[in-house]
Amino acid sequence: MAILWSTGVTEQPRSGDTLYRALGHATALVEGGAALLLLRDDGQGDGTADIRSLEDVSVIGWGLERETMQHIAAFLLEDRTPEPLDGRPRVAVNTDLWGGEIATLRLGDLAGTVGQVHFLGQKGFSTRRQFVEPRRRQALIGELTAAVRLHQEVARLRQENRQLSSILHFSGDGIVTIDAALRITGFNPAMETMTAWRQHEVLGRFYHDVLLPRDIQGNPLGYDHDPVVLAIETGKAITDRQLILLARDGQTVDVSVTAAAVRAPNGQPVSCVLNVRDITRSRESEELRNTFVSVVSHELQTPIAIIKGYASTLAREDAHWDAATLRDRLKAIEEESDRLNHLLGNLLYASRIHAGGLKMERTEIDLAEVTRAVVRRFKARSQDRDITVRFPSNFPLVMADRDRIEEVLMNLLDNAVKYSPRNQPIRVRGQVTEDDVIVSVTDTGQGIPLREQERIFERFQRVDNSMARRTQGAGLGLYICKAIVEAHGGRIWVKSELGQGSSFSFSLPREEKPQAPMVIFGGHNERQERQQHETSI
Ligand code: ADP
Repeated sequence: MAILWSTGVTEQPRSGDTLYRALGHATALVEGGAALLLLRDDGQGDGTADIRSLEDVSVIGWGLERETMQHIAAFLLEDRTPEPLDGRPRVAVNTDLWGGEIATLRLGDLAGTVGQVHFLGQKGFSTRRQFVEPRRRQALIGELTAAVRLHQEVARLRQENRQLSSILHFSGDGIVTIDAALRITGFNPAMETMTAWRQHEVLGRFYHDVLLPRDIQGNPLGYDHDPVVLAIETGKAITDRQLILLARDGQTVDVSVTAAAVRAPNGQPVSCVLNVRDITRSRESEELRNTFVSVVSHELQTPIAIIKGYASTLAREDAHWDAATLRDRLKAIEEESDRLNHLLGNLLYASRIHAGGLKMERTEIDLAEVTRAVVRRFKARSQDRDITVRFPSNFPLVMADRDRIEEVLMNLLDNAVKYSPRNQPIRVRGQVTEDDVIVSVTDTGQGIPLREQERIFERFQRVDNSMARRTQGAGLGLYICKAIVEAHGGRIWVKSELGQGSSFSFSLPREEKPQAPMVIFGGHNERQERQQHETSI
């Protein structure tokens, strides 16, 4: 049972305001003392004829205390006094709850019954002209029925409004409402996330000034091509238009929008609802696929071409090679095969990380010793590089997967060598903080632009400069390093200045943290793959 308001004496209703006033007016008209309205909640069936329980109805009272109202409503529902056939009120007498008569009228119009009204008055009041004279009675019923219908319509609209608000609020797509003057009138939370603007900052602002829409070539969107303007002008929906919006922080967001005009009752478009879907991710993954194909084909082609070139030269029957040239060519073939091996190893590794994660086999390791061993191995191959290692003497043991940490160190050293001039030293340093141990690999090479520094840890990302074009690489090394370090509960980062050099650091927790993110996947020949990878660095 819903009690929309109690009485004129106690509290004033809110949603039933109009209805309450109409009831008060009708009560005064029949010179009654109080009144009760019983309305079916579901608005179904023929009003209250089949109501058997207070659970199914809204009760609106006038001039009654809440409790009395409930008792009288219960009494009325149980009362089986038959209704007179000529439309006059059914009259019940209740001396316990109400010391007089209760005159009941069925409320309804051509569209059906909406409920019952019960007027409470003194003995004999049911013979008032308002009840007895058919025209007056019909006017009374008509006025109250209209008030009930209005009340029900308002309630329905309120409910719809609530539903609409929750759709706007919880929608994964951005939704902006824009008036005919192209000002923003609504901006949902998904839109806030997408653009970093808050609703209160953009309401009332010109939509173009906030979202700075551009076409997919990046040119500012003229009004002639603006889907919002077109939707309002033509009254038609403009669907799936791809645009670029500019977020508050300057980031571009690739979106697909649908603009639909909202029309006034006279059919005139008055505003527009803009649905905005962020397609940055799907575009990125499409780009990633293309990058993958171009990077891999380029990286495979180069060593294959070299191997083939040398092999066919060596195989020529008309040529005779001295031992030194032969060794030289064969060494080059071996190096290029190693490079291929390394690339394939990295590709497999990266796809496994992407598919499910890395399984760590942690044991207690002495990071200072592991680092020195890796550097020793590395120097054996890059003899001309000056690589210094310095660790504090009290460097604590950490729980880590030795092979994987060696992989990280190898990749960082490999990059430091690749991206800095030959005669420049490379420094490897160990540090201890309260919670972590940190290892840094620092070079004095070309450095990395600030805007690229986050990106280079993603798959296939290489800085687009001449050095990167000259050096080989698929942009997978740092991605693999990041996955390994994070699976240990650590962090990897870079500090770099253009032209000055770069310092890549990674941290590992000092104590093994049981909550450290660790994802498991099965991989029976993973070790073998890693070993192949190692020997080729
Ligand atoms: P790869 O070296 O195979 O291209 P990485 O994932 O190891 O892939 O590195 C990604 C990119 O980051 C490199 O292509 C390079 O542009 C940049 N980079 C990595 N290390 C350094 C460094 N020490 N100095 C300058 N740039 C670097």
